[in-house]
Amino acid sequence: MIVLRTLIFVVLLLAAAAAAGFWISGGTAAWVLVVGLGALATYHAVFLGRLHHWAALPRQRELPIAFGSWGQVYDRIGRYMRQEAIERTETSAELERLHAAVDLLPDGLVVLDRFDHVQWSNRAAQALHGIFGTRRPIDHFIRNPEFVDYLRQGDFTHPITLAPSGAPHRMVALKVVPTADAYRLLVSRDVTESNRVEQIRRDFVANISHEIRTPLTVVAGFIETLIDADLPAEDRRRYLETVLRQTGTMQQLVSDLLTLASLEHSSDLAELTPIDITPMLQTLAADLRVVSAGRHTIDVVIATPATVLGAPSELDSAIRNLLSNAVRYTPDGGKITLHFSLRDGEGVIAVRDSGIGIAREHLPRLTERFYRVDRGRSRDTGGTGLGLAIVKHVAQRHQARLDIESRPGLGSTFSITLPHARVRASGSAESTARLAEHQQV
Ligand code: ADP
Repeated sequence: MIVLRTLIFVVLLLAAAAAAGFWISGGTAAWVLVVGLGALATYHAVFLGRLHHWAALPRQRELPIAFGSWGQVYDRIGRYMRQEAIERTETSAELERLHAAVDLLPDGLVVLDRFDHVQWSNRAAQALHGIFGTRRPIDHFIRNPEFVDYLRQGDFTHPITLAPSGAPHRMVALKVVPTADAYRLLVSRDVTESNRVEQIRRDFVANISHEIRTPLTVVAGFIETLIDADLPAEDRRRYLETVLRQTGTMQQLVSDLLTLASLEHSSDLAELTPIDITPMLQTLAADLRVVSAGRHTIDVVIATPATVLGAPSELDSAIRNLLSNAVRYTPDGGKITLHFSLRDGEGVIAVRDSGIGIAREHLPRLTERFYRVDRGRSRDTGGTGLGLAIVKHVAQRHQARLDIESRPGLGSTFSITLPHARVRASGSAESTARLAEHQQV
């Protein structure tokens, strides 16, 4: 179209020049030609010049206005520029959305160039490694020599774990992911919690192996002796009793482990049976008197008869564990009291003994699995080191608190404090209504 227009202009100009030559003179024809071609050249030169000037900074300058053939060219360029601006806005909005999403990732992400300089980092990486700005070398922020070696040697099959400068008490796994071009991604994942869980798992397995190995060694030793030696009946009996005691310890360990596993399995307590505290504690005390066999004075004190809502088997198991400890850690002649009272609407089940007591520094760790103050005494009395862990779990599942007060040589008190919502004084109108409501469910 543009070419056609120019050709028509040239043809018209030649026709005008020929007409002028025919009707006027050859000189006039030459003038017509010169003026026409001059106008054409000026027109093209002006609009080409404007385009050239605009093209030096196309995003900062307005596209000039033109007419004729150049008007069409400018229109096309204008349309292309508008289209490109729309696409650019869309792309940058998409990029912003992507950055915002990557910023929300819990994992740190750093884009490194071929010289391992930071090109971009998300918020998690900035918080973990104190990264700010761009173009600085990554080892400026992660100064750990192990990391510098890791970057240099170039084998990124496995991540490395280190404490980041921005959070020195945490552990972070760092992994470099090479990309198709010269860039590399550095991904940091906080592994503090998974490392802690893994450590707990390892300790747990080591503890169980140790707990089982000790009685097993005793059992194996005695059985060997029984096989090899021709012992008098009395000695045989004593040896077999020891074997029986040790297998009992192993059975108790397995049973406590199963109890713990089932308590840990779900954190919500579904069972909400009304339990009358007085007969429950009296039965437990009667059973304890059989275990104690007259070696201790055992009393039950109920300050206010009450009903509690809970899982009977779990509360029974928790109190039995506390009572069993009281007997095992109270020398003969000592006193054990099983006590229930209401305090500010909360129900307190307390097991008090006049036994050996516990030094203050041990108290915070007593409910840890396998924690013992005196390993020898615990084992000799058939302890598994899991009793108080079970009590703590049962208390937690009942939204109750386990408190321990103890003085070495003076005795200990272990109390389970049940929240107001789980306790009603027996016979109170509220108790009757609440239990009736419960039974309807
Ligand atoms: P264990 O089977 O060893 O008794 P527990 O978890 O029941 O395990 O108790 C942990 C430790 O707490 C015991 O090893 C013992 O040292 C201490 N302990 C628990 N109850 C008493 C108590 N009534 N008097 C003194 N020490 C106690």
